[in-house]
Amino acid sequence: MLALVKTSAGPGLSLETVPDPVPGINDVLVRVHKTGICGTDLHIESWDPWAAKTIVPPLVVGHEFVGEIVEVGSNVADFHPGDLVSGEGHVVCGRCRHCLAGRRHLCAHTIGLGVGRDGAFAEYVVLPMTNIWHHWPGVDEEVAAIFDPFGNAVHTALSFPVLGEDVLVSGAGPIGLMATAIARHAGARHVVVCEPNARRRELAEQMGATRVIDPAKERLTEVFDELDMVEGYDVAFEMSGSPTALRNAIDAMAHGGGIAILGIPTQDVTLDVNAVVFKMLTLRGIYGREMYETWYKMTVMLQSGLDIRPVITHRFGFREFEAAFAAARSGDAGKVIMDWGH
Ligand code: NAD
Ligand code: ZN
Repeated sequence: MLALVKTSAGPGLSLETVPDPVPGINDVLVRVHKTGICGTDLHIESWDPWAAKTIVPPLVVGHEFVGEIVEVGSNVADFHPGDLVSGEGHVVCGRCRHCLAGRRHLCAHTIGLGVGRDGAFAEYVVLPMTNIWHHWPGVDEEVAAIFDPFGNAVHTALSFPVLGEDVLVSGAGPIGLMATAIARHAGARHVVVCEPNARRRELAEQMGATRVIDPAKERLTEVFDELDMVEGYDVAFEMSGSPTALRNAIDAMAHGGGIAILGIPTQDVTLDVNAVVFKMLTLRGIYGREMYETWYKMTVMLQSGLDIRPVITHRFGFREFEAAFAAARSGDAGKVIMDWGH
């Protein structure tokens, strides 16, 4: 099969012919239809310090996908050839305390698809049956292709109650954009999106932001009067990885507020812990998706009218992967989809 491979330690990816993956008795073999490009793929492509210490080439990259089952292992009962599925990209151990208790997202032995094992930027991908999610008939395949980052957004956006609350979204990358629409769908009063990039602020408006803020021009507190906010944000989603954005959010929170932190800073962050204490804030780290409550919520929110399609801004065939990666890297894109021609 053809696959996008990190062939050796260093920048770049190449389209290579590699052996088709072979499913084990508990596995499912999927013919990939469409894939989404994630920031992780950009790190691996550019071979930054994180990639250099994490990735062992050769590796087929990619973890956001939708496809069709072509074969199942002899132990697999619930999945059948022809089913349209996506995969949870975190393969957990199944044996640790948290896995055994059903809290699989807390597994400390998680292996990432396209990071620690061969991934989905390929014509075929194999995953354990416990990582496969069935789509309902009629799902939009492009939306299905991005269930993984959509799940990051859902996991973050639903980690504190948002009904009637004033929500701050710091960073309107693809995940912040989806979280904006989710918070609106889940009944937030205001969703204020802070983002330096003008194109992404426009996308945030399309996704339902009440108000967008350019952090170079306006402070998070300046919109309070206009939005009839008394004290500050009740809930914030940190989706930028920027230390400044996190500090600014802490400053602008109401007492008792909750900050869900998904963004991954690339440097140490100093925080005003006094503000956290005296405002009695809850800071909560978010990694991945809850297996499989997040997946259930994604499905039923789409069925009840949530529309995340405006986040998909670019589409390429897999042979144009260099252009696709360039678009994803540009900072102006929402989600970039690659089609695998099936
Ligand atoms: P992205 O890099 O495309 O988006 C981040 C956005 O933050 C950019 O649009 C950038 O302009 C904006 N930004 C930068 N400085 C800012 C500031 N001071 N205030 C407000 N916005 C600012 O990333 P993404 O793909 O949407 O992912 C969001 C974050 O989540 C990234 O840090 C990513 O590494 C991380 N992530 C975490 C998980 C997890 O499981 N925890 C999973 C996927 C991604
Ligand atoms: Zn485990």
